[in-house]
Amino acid sequence: MKKLVNNDLQGPVRTCMVCRVRFQKHDLTRHVWRGEWTPDKAYILPGRGYYCCAGEACKAKFPKRAAAVRKGKGEGKRDEA
Ligand SMILES: [Zn+2]
Repeated sequence: MKKLVNNDLQGPVRTCMVCRVRFQKHDLTRHVWRGEWTPDKAYILPGRGYYCCAGEACKAKFPKRAAAVRKGKGEGKRDEA
C-alpha cells in the first residue's frame, strides 16, 4: 500500500483538511473565513488558515468541511455529506 505522507517535503508543510494528505504549504490553497471562505493566495490574511489541496473532490467538499471544523465539529470525525 502506497503511503501518502511524503517525508521528503521541504519547508512548511500543511495538511489538506479534506483528504488529510500533507503537502508543501504552497501547494495548498489557504482560506480564511471573512464572512465567506476567502482564498488567501498570498498567505497574508490574519486569522486561522484552512488549507485545501488542488483535488476537485477536496475543493468541492472544502466549504462544508471547513465550516464544520470552524464550528468545532468534525475534528477527528468524518461526516461526509
Ligand atoms: Zn485534499
